[in-house]
Amino acid sequence: MSFTQFELPEALVRGVRAAGYQKPTSIQEQAIPIIMQGRDVVGAAQTGTGKTAAFMLPVLARLMEGPRALRALVLVPTRELAMQVEAAARRYARRTDVATTAVFGGVPIPPQERILRHEGVDLLVATPGRLLDLHGRQSVSLDDVEVLVLDEADRMVDMGFAKDLRRILALVPKKRQTLMFSATMPPELNRVASEALHKPVRVDLSEQAQPVASITQRFYAVAQDHKPDVLSHILTEQAAGKAIVFVRSKRGTDRLVRKLRDAGHDVVAMHGDRTQSQRDTAMRQFRSGRVRALIATDIASRGLDIHEVTHVINYDVPQAPEDYVHRIGRTGRMLATGSAVTLVSPADRERLHAIERHLGHRVEALPAPGVRTRHEADAHPGRHGRHEATHPAAHRNGHAGPARHERHDRHERHDHERAPRGGHAVAVAATNGAADSAPAHGRRPKRQSTDRRSRRRM
Ligand code: AMP
Repeated sequence: MSFTQFELPEALVRGVRAAGYQKPTSIQEQAIPIIMQGRDVVGAAQTGTGKTAAFMLPVLARLMEGPRALRALVLVPTRELAMQVEAAARRYARRTDVATTAVFGGVPIPPQERILRHEGVDLLVATPGRLLDLHGRQSVSLDDVEVLVLDEADRMVDMGFAKDLRRILALVPKKRQTLMFSATMPPELNRVASEALHKPVRVDLSEQAQPVASITQRFYAVAQDHKPDVLSHILTEQAAGKAIVFVRSKRGTDRLVRKLRDAGHDVVAMHGDRTQSQRDTAMRQFRSGRVRALIATDIASRGLDIHEVTHVINYDVPQAPEDYVHRIGRTGRMLATGSAVTLVSPADRERLHAIERHLGHRVEALPAPGVRTRHEADAHPGRHGRHEATHPAAHRNGHAGPARHERHDRHERHDHERAPRGGHAVAVAATNGAADSAPAHGRRPKRQSTDRRSRRRM
């Protein structure tokens, strides 16, 4: 299967090739033809499977034809995801005249208003709160929206956006195509979905949101007090790679950052209480590899596509098993190999059971590296270790063996595929310089036919 078989406009196929994609991924194969028929879709896919291109390519194909107006709206839960999804759209559309912008909170609103009002946008990627603010200020009209995409929809509901989503649904035309991507279907989302979707086709590649098989998973039993030392040891060992360390709370994240810096590690923090510019700087330093460890709350667990993340470390065991899958999905992207380490304290045991149930097999918590067992400490008093670790979960009975999945088919990575590095409040595709200065609410003149081959309208 190749991208040419989708009846996508040639300019998009070329954009995709320039992005380095040779053939469609599974979700792309399944979803693109359905979306091009104009059907509503509910999609569940493993993280890192190419979901963005699966919805973005048909949406861009639609935008290349017809009037110039804000006709496609993509809602995402976080600012980082907004930037990333918009960057992907811009990359695929670089040989077209489709104009794209991302808007999100935490940055000044006037530059976003200026672009929406004066430059004109065909595709808007937005977080729900900021979109409603902009709408309230009459800086954006949603009257022309033909396609609505709800990306990471369960995360949006988790983050308390359900009400905002309903308000937005009331603002977009009833006659539209709606695409919803979600790893899970919590009850609150079910209600949103029944309002939003019309006879959707289900594209389910989630395999119950199981981790991709290219990720090696390890569980280390460690007393809560020893976690900083164990983590410090792991970070030292994997110094050549890039690690995301997940912590339960924002304050816990800051505390851990201080401890790690005291221990000589160069790390940055990422959580919802940091300012947008701090978050941008942290992401930039981490993406570029200048800083090799990002200490984050679950805000970084969804959707973010950061290349060469070799390690995901669950400093705190996630609350929900699905979060475990999302977190470790930050490594092993596009079938590259990655390593996930979870530090399990006695208090984490229940949560570990939940993960085991979700994975469908038992996991063995091994003795943590970098701390000495009581036995070793007794045998070699005074040798290197400062602590004696307790290994509660390591001694549980009946384990089926380490939860270790390895895969051998390593696929090529595309290092030029990166989200924007700059801390831009808004980013507009300046393709062909086609934006005109019509007001936000009016339709802009119909574009000249460019390189559009005959193809199905959606
Ligand atoms: P996503 O699941 O949309 O976040 O995509 C994960 C990563 O896969 C991104 O880096 C994409 O650029 C990349 N990707 C998407 N589709 C393909 C493809 N068909 N071939 C190779 N890489 C892809």
